[in-house]
Amino acid sequence: TFLVYCSDNALVEKEVSEFKKNLLQTKPALELFSWGKAAGNDLQITSIAKKANTTIITGIYNRETHSIQIPFADEASIENAITCWAVLILLKKDDKEVVQKFASLYPISMRLELKHGLNNCTIINDSYSNDLYSLSIGLNFLIHQKQHKKYTVILSDVLQSGRNSEVLYSEVASLLIQKKVDQFIGIGPEIFASKKLFSSIKSCHFYHSVGEFLKDLATLQFHDQNILVKGARSFGFEQIVSVLEQKVHQTILSIDLKAIVHNLKYYKQLLPSSTKLMAMVKAFSYGSGSHEIASVLEYHSIDYLAVAYTDEGVELRKAGISIPIMVMNVETTAFASLINYMLEPEIFSFSMLRDFENFLKSNGVMNYPVHLKIDTGMHRLGFTKEDLPELISILSGSIPFAIKSVFTHLVASEDAKQDVFTKYQIKVFKECTTSIKSALKYDFYSHVANTSAISRHRNAGMDMARLGIGLYGIDHNSRVQKKLCNVTTLTTTISQIKNVKAGDTVGYGRNAKLHRESIIATVRIGYADGYPRSLGNGMGKMLVQDKLVPVVGNVCMDMTMLDITDLHGVHEGDSVIVFGEKLPLPILAKWANTIPYEIMTGISQRVKRVYFEE
Ligand SMILES: *Cc1c(COP(=O)(O)O)cnc(C)c1O
Repeated sequence: TFLVYCSDNALVEKEVSEFKKNLLQTKPALELFSWGKAAGNDLQITSIAKKANTTIITGIYNRETHSIQIPFADEASIENAITCWAVLILLKKDDKEVVQKFASLYPISMRLELKHGLNNCTIINDSYSNDLYSLSIGLNFLIHQKQHKKYTVILSDVLQSGRNSEVLYSEVASLLIQKKVDQFIGIGPEIFASKKLFSSIKSCHFYHSVGEFLKDLATLQFHDQNILVKGARSFGFEQIVSVLEQKVHQTILSIDLKAIVHNLKYYKQLLPSSTKLMAMVKAFSYGSGSHEIASVLEYHSIDYLAVAYTDEGVELRKAGISIPIMVMNVETTAFASLINYMLEPEIFSFSMLRDFENFLKSNGVMNYPVHLKIDTGMHRLGFTKEDLPELISILSGSIPFAIKSVFTHLVASEDAKQDVFTKYQIKVFKECTTSIKSALKYDFYSHVANTSAISRHRNAGMDMARLGIGLYGIDHNSRVQKKLCNVTTLTTTISQIKNVKAGDTVGYGRNAKLHRESIIATVRIGYADGYPRSLGNGMGKMLVQDKLVPVVGNVCMDMTMLDITDLHGVHEGDSVIVFGEKLPLPILAKWANTIPYEIMTGISQRVKRVYFEE
């Protein structure tokens, strides 16, 4: 076993030598390979010469002087490169040809952004890197977007040193065909020269440069399609993205799709592997989006989705989501759309049961999937324990339903003080499902747990759980909260900065009288965007240059004023964080005397959502 490390870092050096002492007896022995400035290192670094964006690193090993060149000048890249070099030496793979390849490294970023574009297009911005591997990641992300039927790829030359371009672009073309891309736009001299290789794609256009493409943009008429914009950094594809992007005021809710997947996996591993998961995507997935979130969850094999109202389910179906969707609050008038879009209603009362039964029978539909809601203490919707005998006698007759699941909702699963009541709810629920099971003679899922009950009550031992707020990065339990990733970040920008005299007031109603000469920044967010008015007059704070500054005066409809007197070097146009990783939403909710759910779902639709995957 080898350990390769940098001895210039005193802490690492100290830990490694202590570690080594303790490991002396182990077999196989741990062998060390160090690099650093001092002469005793296996690889002694004698000089690091930076010039613009390249660095030449020289070192001595086996008594000979060697050097590598890398196309980066930042400390992290230099350290990473030297460590790689040390590994190559250790593995005896340090021949000239291999070491020369350091010069052709290029920065990669896997950041994919999903944006609303002009003419109802969806734009995936991946204008950072372009090699075959990242292309296939980008294409997979593209084909998971089901909101439009047409798929377009705008691609620059692919950077893959040392590959014959005929082989390379044949491979690119077959990848595009395999992913069923409808339209292909190639930009760059190499791709232009290889255009005949793409002849089996329906619609193709080729340009030598971004400028040439932009001139032709009007004739291409992009509308109602999913577009992947993927180019190596040197091609400047961000120009294309900014032209295709829909322009809106600059308050943005950014949603980290990777974080959602992380949180999903976190809750999954708390449950036995056989337990099914239903993701709550009601109210635009707690404000973070509809199909954008649902398609990520579908891709990660969630078993069920749930929405509050039929329209929400219809929207998901129209966007191509095909997994089962439960609708919790269905009105009689929505029955037709329900069955047209194969949405599964929650049945919560006898009148609804009768109405839906009649509707199905008159349409000749049999075995329609439904879910039964039991009221064990919330007293909102559902059949009570007292309703059971009547319910069971109906279920034992001939009904056009297939009961997919039976469930109840806990009223205070997050609260230890209410655990006795929670246990009582679970007990009543188990009694109800036992008698329903014996009447039906077939299996259905039983589910009780929301986010807090998954972690605090081990899902009450049921075979499905309904995960809501935890997916979006929030759990009432602080131990669990630490394990989750932040999903949403709300940012805005400063539209004006002004100096205001002591004694003057700021905002409506003259509520905020200034005690000192102050610098006031007006930001582009107000209560119409979902920033609560209760956060006015110092109750709320935002992060400017990573420092908390108070709201001054009343929050207006579209704007809010901040006191930035104590900060330096703040400029108009600067970005301001309203909540996110550095200013957690639960803190903001507390300032506003409410819960995170209300803030999240209250961010208005006028705030642009940007999705990214890092
Ligand atoms: C919203 C909702 C959930 C999810 O609750 P979280 O606390 O967000 O996990 C679960 N079940 C039902 C019936 C709901 O309405």
